[in-house]
Amino acid sequence: MTHYAEVIGHPIAHSKSPLIHKFWLTQLGMVGDYRASDVQPQGLERYFAERAADTDWRGCNITIPHKIAALDFVSDPGEVRNSIGAINTVFRNDAGALVATNTDAGGFYGPIADIPIAGETAVVIGAGGAARAVLFALAQADIGEVVLVARNALKAAGLLAHFGLKGKVIGLDARMPDAALLVNASPLGMVGQEALEIDLSPLPEHAIVYDLVYAPIETALLKAARMRDLETVDGLEMLVGQAAIAFELFFGAAPPDDGEDALRALLLT
Ligand code: NAP
Repeated sequence: MTHYAEVIGHPIAHSKSPLIHKFWLTQLGMVGDYRASDVQPQGLERYFAERAADTDWRGCNITIPHKIAALDFVSDPGEVRNSIGAINTVFRNDAGALVATNTDAGGFYGPIADIPIAGETAVVIGAGGAARAVLFALAQADIGEVVLVARNALKAAGLLAHFGLKGKVIGLDARMPDAALLVNASPLGMVGQEALEIDLSPLPEHAIVYDLVYAPIETALLKAARMRDLETVDGLEMLVGQAAIAFELFFGAAPPDDGEDALRALLLT
């Protein structure tokens, strides 16, 4: 009997989660496994019924297209449905119940947790699932104001209201405001997607530029920020951060602090 966790989605072959979780299992010398399972939407209910009966199964990470639909088959004591609105992790709790959570907000916030952003202005580009986790984390961190950059102004304004955030919505062609933090939570700049073309010159010298995109790891946005000597955070930091929170929920041990460079090198191959 080997405890295992997995990532589910459709398609799923592209997922980097098995590399990350297996790296930590090996590093800790733990007996356990982490797989990728292709689950189609019509198979989701059966998937959770089968895994609920399999006591070796510790939980799963969840990616497109199941991040909302999975909520119908697991318990939601943290009310993620009504807050972030989507889940990326299900784990088995001590009582054996399958519990929903979202580790993206914590994974996003970890790399900037030491930076005082309370009361500051943040720019967030995008209004999809990742943006929801970012806005949730920024609201928790008492951000002063959020300027949300989106193509659907109504949807974006609804998000600000949902998270109780002060701020406004602007288009991608608008001048960027003076802000302490700029986050790209859209696919713009990702391999195969349109470029993200924004002028960073209005940002102050202490601003942090954070790109959630991790393919490529060195995006044009991060390059432009470094040209201006601004501090940057890349998408791999969040990817590894959200995985670390899930790993502990699955396997009951935190990933080791050392080995971060080796893990990054592995993810970049
Ligand atoms: P999503 O739910 O599909 O949302 C994408 C958002 O970007 C939507 O608001 C969409 O606008 C907007 N958008 C897409 N194309 C656009 C365009 N051409 N012009 C303007 N806006 C555009 O995707 P997601 O799950 O939020 O993911 C967004 C990015 O974050 C992806 O690159 C993903 O890989 C990355 N991500 C990284 C991590 C990590 O751990 N590093 C975690 C999660 C996501 P509409 O609302 O108008 O459709």
